Amino acid sequence: MDAFQYRHGALFAEAVGVENIAAAVGTPVYVYSQATFLDHLAKNQRAYADIDTLICYSVKACGNIHILRRLHEAGAGFDIVSGGELFRARRAGADPSRIVYAGAGKTDAEIIEALQAGIACFNIESEAELENLVRLTRLHNRPTRAALRVNPDIDPGTHRHITTGTRETKFGVQIEHAVDLFHRYRDNGAVDLCAIHVHLGSGGKTIDPYVRAVERALTLIEELRARGHRIEALNLGGGYGADYESKTVPTAADYAAGIAPLIKGRGLRLILEPGKSIIANAGILITRVLYTKTTGDKHFVIVDAGMNDLIRPVLYEAFHFIWPVRVGEGFVPTVRRQDLCPEGSRIVDVVGPICEGADFFARDRALPPVERGDLLAVFTAGAYGFTMASNYNARPMPPEVLVDGESFRVIRRRQTYEDLVAPEL
Ligand SMILES: *Cc1c(COP(=O)(O)O)cnc(C)c1O
Repeated sequence: MDAFQYRHGALFAEAVGVENIAAAVGTPVYVYSQATFLDHLAKNQRAYADIDTLICYSVKACGNIHILRRLHEAGAGFDIVSGGELFRARRAGADPSRIVYAGAGKTDAEIIEALQAGIACFNIESEAELENLVRLTRLHNRPTRAALRVNPDIDPGTHRHITTGTRETKFGVQIEHAVDLFHRYRDNGAVDLCAIHVHLGSGGKTIDPYVRAVERALTLIEELRARGHRIEALNLGGGYGADYESKTVPTAADYAAGIAPLIKGRGLRLILEPGKSIIANAGILITRVLYTKTTGDKHFVIVDAGMNDLIRPVLYEAFHFIWPVRVGEGFVPTVRRQDLCPEGSRIVDVVGPICEGADFFARDRALPPVERGDLLAVFTAGAYGFTMASNYNARPMPPEVLVDGESFRVIRRRQTYEDLVAPEL
């Protein structure tokens, strides 16, 4: 579900007209729907209600502290990948005992911060990291728990930059080495290695890779238990599909139907780290058409947002549905699909103002006729949108707006030129 719908030809975020937000805050602007991300969290909570589950929202997908606070209040824990994300989560009021920490390159300073905060679990990505964690844990007298991230060698069939569970990636240890590692670190007295972590990477369109990953992880867990290791939890990571195109990915209930029965009755706590499946379609990027132009037989729509605001189309060749905020008769989109092409639309490239050929949002895409001054919505931009924004071309980062029912508020102001140079003074 998402709460971005057209009413009488104008796009609304919940009960707020998107045009009103653009008029008040300017463009480009990220707009989030609170009802949407809370609905996604609640659906996950319900889907796994009959097994012991901790849902740790992945902060890197969208880390605005106001959004984290809402998710925390609704019962989410957090998955972090840096000291900065730990800081954000704590600023949002998160309970450290519901925070798990992943990442192949944790620094000593970051590890110490997390130890001192008392987080629930470190997701360990290599033997060298485990050795370092044991050392720091002893040095600071802060015993902790850890999950070993194993690489199940399963390819969910997505883009190579977001596939993390195959043999060739930098993440995790090969599943064949796990037993040996558990054996050698059994009595270290500092780090309780008591869980298995797998994370396939993002965007698979079926539940099959996840079911196979659970099966492989459970085989490993049974073997470890048979050798006397106490394994308390299985962390399945994130990567669950998000609705970039209408109705092309499994729902939380679909995943749970495949996963939960395999876990049930095994005395295992399930940890999930959903990011984009919670927040992706809870956010849109609103941008204004600056110019239209035709060169040869190509039509360009040049907008005031650029790849510094939303880099996913360039970085992942990602599809984002783009449509005008106000549409004429016959142009209200019934589905958000790559092939949507109502009669009277025009094939265009939607591009940004940045001095890079790669600065595009869509290529050869059908769009209703638009002109200078029109607003466009880039849908499903809530995940890895603002969090990947930069100041490239000395462009101030856009504001973030949170909609709740009939009201909206700015939860991050637009950067100013002064913000651009402040750290240089
Ligand atoms: C990025 C990441 C996630 C979240 O992935 P999504 O595709 O946003 O669900 C979860 N766990 C780990 C370890 C990650 O690196």
